[in-house]
Amino acid sequence: MKKVEDYIRSIPDFPEEGIIFRDVTSILQEADGLHLAIDEMIKLLDGVDFDVIAGAESRGFIFGVPIAYALNKPFVPVRKAGKLPCATVSKTYDLEYGSATIEMHKDSIKPGQKVVLVDDLIATGGTIEAAAQLVEELGGEVVKIVFLMELAGLHGRDKLAKYDVASVVTYE
Ligand code: IMP
Repeated sequence: MKKVEDYIRSIPDFPEEGIIFRDVTSILQEADGLHLAIDEMIKLLDGVDFDVIAGAESRGFIFGVPIAYALNKPFVPVRKAGKLPCATVSKTYDLEYGSATIEMHKDSIKPGQKVVLVDDLIATGGTIEAAAQLVEELGGEVVKIVFLMELAGLHGRDKLAKYDVASVVTYE
């Protein structure tokens, strides 16, 4: 039987020389790959008590929404700056390649809500750390962070030491 990693295409030297890019499109374009990826991420939430799933634009949406739908939870988008129409909180952070700003609607998380963060991949951890900080700024509690893929060599987990973090596939 195929595993999730069998569906992940690795592209050497993208977007820069020396980087091996782990491509999610090769999972998504196979019905079995998509099912398997979502099912494996859902397994990581076994026994986790939570209210909301939040995911970062854009691949956090791809994986976060089907998980929220399957588990009958709401989904909150964490978006790139300037996209959300109502009052927002925002955070700027360093990326593996450059820097970025993300935002959430101020009313998207209610104080005391238990939040699961979802993204396709953790590299340096900057994106999810910033998203977790926004959730906390809104009074939410980050109870779990789930990734499909983890680039362990970049030590992104170090930034997330205070959170419960799990990944389906880990690359050294
Ligand atoms: P981080 O903030 O450094 O952890 O970067 C994570 C974000 O960068 C994720 O949202 C990914 O979508 C993207 N990213 C970084 N490296 C890769 C890769 O090798 N494959 C796919 N996405 C990547």
